[in-house]
Amino acid sequence: MSPVTHFLSGWVFANCARLDRRERAIVTLACVAPDVDGLGIIPELLTRNSSHPLLWFTLYHHSLHTLAFSVAVAVIAFALARQRWKTALLSLASFHLHLFEDILGSRGPDGYQWPIPYLAPFSSSLQLVWRGEWGLNAWPNVAITVLLLLITLWLAWRRGFSPLEMISQRVDTDFVRTLRQRFGVPTIG
Ligand SMILES: [Zn+2]
Repeated sequence: MSPVTHFLSGWVFANCARLDRRERAIVTLACVAPDVDGLGIIPELLTRNSSHPLLWFTLYHHSLHTLAFSVAVAVIAFALARQRWKTALLSLASFHLHLFEDILGSRGPDGYQWPIPYLAPFSSSLQLVWRGEWGLNAWPNVAITVLLLLITLWLAWRRGFSPLEMISQRVDTDFVRTLRQRFGVPTIG
């Protein structure tokens, strides 16, 4: 699925637990973290028609979709959070939510399934892939993203914070105020 879908699912997942602002951000970003290995798409597209094209996306996409990287992310979460174990474990779960979503629906336009080398770089024996995998831009992904967006808006209205808090608390407060002016103030905080 797309980084936007992963981000929103990470956010909704983080909101299932009692976390502070920084911990929510950590758990949310853990759901996007595996796609850091997809940043190679930028140099690859930029050099596509050059004499020395860089195939960084083709070569490395999914190279961080691994158990080893999930542990690294959990360790970082542990180091940054106040509720260390809780945030580390939720980040680990959030990372795996990303992997699950990719197995469900991330088939490339060319039909390639992008198997997940879960035990890399230690072993390439396990390649996670599901035969029924749908395309990256297929309708279920659109439906899931719209649903997550609606949940995110509802959470913002109800709880008083949204992912905008990661950029600026003032922007977030203004956003929640706008929502509540439009849809009324929730009865219970
Ligand atoms: Zn991914």
